[in-house]
Amino acid sequence: NKEDAGWHLDNSYTTLPSFFYSEIELNPVSTPELVIMNDALAQKLGLDTTVLRSGEALEVLAGNEMPKNGAKIAQAYAGHQFGYFNMLGDGRALLIGEQITPEGERFDLQLKGSGRTPYSRQGDGRAALGPMLREYIISEAMHALGIPTSRSLAVIKTGEPVYRETVLEGAILTRVAQSHIRVATFQYAAKYGGYDQLKALADYTINRHYPELAEAENPYLALFEKVMERQASLVAKWQLVGFIHGVLNTDNVTISGETIDYGPCAFMDTYKQDTVFSSIDTQGRYAYGNQPQITGWNMARFAESLLELIHEDPEQAVEMAQDKLEKYPAIFHSVWLKGMRAKLGLITEEKDDPELIHSLLEGMEKYGADYTNTFRSLAENIRPADAFFSSKAFAEWEEKWQKRLQRQGSAFKDVSDLMLHSNPAVIPRNHRVEEALEAVVKSGNYTVMQKLLKVLATPYELSVENQRYAEPPDAGCGPYRTYCG
Ligand code: AMP
Ligand code: MG
Ligand code: MG
Repeated sequence: NKEDAGWHLDNSYTTLPSFFYSEIELNPVSTPELVIMNDALAQKLGLDTTVLRSGEALEVLAGNEMPKNGAKIAQAYAGHQFGYFNMLGDGRALLIGEQITPEGERFDLQLKGSGRTPYSRQGDGRAALGPMLREYIISEAMHALGIPTSRSLAVIKTGEPVYRETVLEGAILTRVAQSHIRVATFQYAAKYGGYDQLKALADYTINRHYPELAEAENPYLALFEKVMERQASLVAKWQLVGFIHGVLNTDNVTISGETIDYGPCAFMDTYKQDTVFSSIDTQGRYAYGNQPQITGWNMARFAESLLELIHEDPEQAVEMAQDKLEKYPAIFHSVWLKGMRAKLGLITEEKDDPELIHSLLEGMEKYGADYTNTFRSLAENIRPADAFFSSKAFAEWEEKWQKRLQRQGSAFKDVSDLMLHSNPAVIPRNHRVEEALEAVVKSGNYTVMQKLLKVLATPYELSVENQRYAEPPDAGCGPYRTYCG
């Protein structure tokens, strides 16, 4: 006679060979307490927030109890971390099932920070409050920016400590994604499984994400091509908003094309191609400017894992995959260029547009311009008195840009609308995210975070009284560093 929160769970992943997952024991926590819930997302999922907030449903979000038809599995995967291959798997996450929404869509519900699994290695399986709230804030901001991403349903405090450099409050994030199938899931199948396992995974993935490909002449080659397109488009969108993922290991690259695994990620303030935030990325492998190329590298790893399915003759398989992979740079470039044209109000296409764009970016980098605010100023048709806008480089660029705009002959309003919808006024700035997390962690104050979330929910409009959210950090702050949670 428990009240039902609206769980409508299926577990299609468990129809795969058991090689792909481990059923796990629950690791109950002592005193779960809800700290944030995403009402809009809950509604989309067909979940009742009143019931979710109640004691019984809270036990589900804490990983203390399974909901009706829940699954309790950790997924296996193996992939490249900073270029080195490792056996991985969900070391601190529990998949409780696939929620079928009222609209008939299917989303994984995963508890992150839910305790040890067979894949935990040396880890404790737990997560701290700060990093889980950070993922909540940034993933929801990404969603509001229109970029494919996993989302965040809720964060609960476990009531138990986690031990990092210091003692922190433990927390569990409920993560929602189209699926958690990764490039590393395929690498795991290719390396440790046989043909049958690999084929089962590929068929399952096609059926779940790209059912139209089942009819293709070569469905597995088509799967490769489709995922490559999605990933090229995703990384292009990151570049356009200045997002740096921070850990583009193959286990953090989804087959659905969603951004996943928010660890040491951050949005860039000052435009600089070699920006790195992550304390563990000492070589700058995952620097802003490297992301497109790294995604290409990750796609090559994906292709390798599919070779056996692509063609029975290994040499032919390589040739076929190579043929597709070669298109990656052009696909990335076309999505990026389309996005950049929109940012600059270019409705028509001219051959020299890439040159115009690059000369703007060069000037921005040279004068240390703020990435988001420079584009937003162009969109709002204002020229702040900063180093870049005051420079001769900008004046010369602007003259070319204005001529280019005149040549296309579009109405001012159309250009202005396009630009205002293509250049966010507000991104989750690191110093604002830190300010919000500090209020929570140091004084249990959630209002700073709630306000930030509200502002980030409509990134293309910012009222005058909320301008502080658009301000870059003080120059005196020094370089920002992110850490893994
Ligand atoms: P990530 O860098 O977040 O993609 O994580 C890489 C791997 O480490 C994944 O297999 C995670 O499940 C695992 N992992 C991360 N943190 C922990 C932890 N605290 N306990 C156990 N496993 C973890
Ligand atoms: Mg990961
Ligand atoms: Mg992670």
